[in-house]
Amino acid sequence: MNYYSEQITNLIAELSSLPGIGSKSAQRLAFHIIGMPIEKVNHLTETITSARQNVRYCKECLTLTDRELCPICASDKRDHSVIMVVESTRDLAAYEKTGKYDGVYHVLHGAISPMLGIGPRDIKLKELMVRLQKEEVKEVIIATNSSVEGEATAMFISKVVKPTGIKCSRIASGVPVGGDLEYIDEVTLLRALEGRTQL
Ligand code: ZN
Repeated sequence: MNYYSEQITNLIAELSSLPGIGSKSAQRLAFHIIGMPIEKVNHLTETITSARQNVRYCKECLTLTDRELCPICASDKRDHSVIMVVESTRDLAAYEKTGKYDGVYHVLHGAISPMLGIGPRDIKLKELMVRLQKEEVKEVIIATNSSVEGEATAMFISKVVKPTGIKCSRIASGVPVGGDLEYIDEVTLLRALEGRTQL
C-alpha cells in the first residue's frame, strides 16, 4: 500500500514543480497519467526526453530548433538583410503567425533588467553584434516587449547598433505598455511592425 502511495506522491511532487501547475492540477495530472495505457505514457516520456535532448539554439539566430540552422535561417526565401530582435522564441512564433514578415530574427532569450540583476551580458546580445559584423545587414528591427525591461533592452541595442551605420528601428507602440508580444493579436503586431520608427 505504502509503496504505491509513495510513487503517486513523488509523481505529484514532480508535476507540481513545473511552472503554472499547482498542487490540485498536479494531482489531477498524476491520476490521469496513472490511468493512461502504458504505451501512451511511454510515448509521452519519450517525446519529453527527445525534445530535451535534441532541441538547441539555432547557430545563427539562437531560436530553439532541432537542427543546426532553424528553417527560417536556412531559407533562401527570407530576406537575410533584415534582422528582427525579439526576447523569446514565443515572440518569434507570434510574428511568424502573421505570415507577413519575410526577414530573419535574433532571439535574445531575455531582456535587460537592472532590478533583477540581468545585464547585457546575460542575454544573447554579443551574438547579435557578431552577426552585424559578419553579414550584409541593412536593418535591425527592435521588437522587444514594451515593458520597462523591453524598453531598456531596446535603448541599449539602439546605442550599440547606431555606430555601425546599420538602420535601426523600433516597432510602433501599438503594442500596449507592459504587453507581452505573445498575447497580442496578429493585426496589432502587423500594425506595430509597419509603423516602426527609425531610431
Ligand atoms: Zn535561426
